Amino acid sequence: MKIEHLGIAVKELAISIPLFEQLLNTPCYKTEEVASEGVSTAFFQTGDSKIELLEATGETSPIAKFITKKGEGIHHVAFEVENIEAEMKRLQALGFELLNEKPKNGADNKLVCFLHPKSTNGVLVELCQEKKS
Ligand code: ZN
Repeated sequence: MKIEHLGIAVKELAISIPLFEQLLNTPCYKTEEVASEGVSTAFFQTGDSKIELLEATGETSPIAKFITKKGEGIHHVAFEVENIEAEMKRLQALGFELLNEKPKNGADNKLVCFLHPKSTNGVLVELCQEKKS
């Protein structure tokens, strides 16, 4: 539907939050830890999309590994979908490799699924759907 957010890996939220507040001229509206993913996140609204900063909460966090390998920078692109399960089935049938078989709980009240970058030209893609209450 649209690019919901861009995920950016950072070493320290404490440094990057004020930096992005200045850059985007908007306050960070939410910070949230996703323990299952080993990340602390911080969100900024930029028009219809968001920026998600990601800091590792431990050495085994995928973000820690990413930063060791590639340094800080753009980590993933998240696309909003209406029906995540249908979209996962559609992409799987086309040969895309999903990193999780079922939607999982992500930050910011979302169900999420990641696609393996090797099936998407090196771009880590996140599908996300707003959780219906
Ligand atoms: Zn994300």
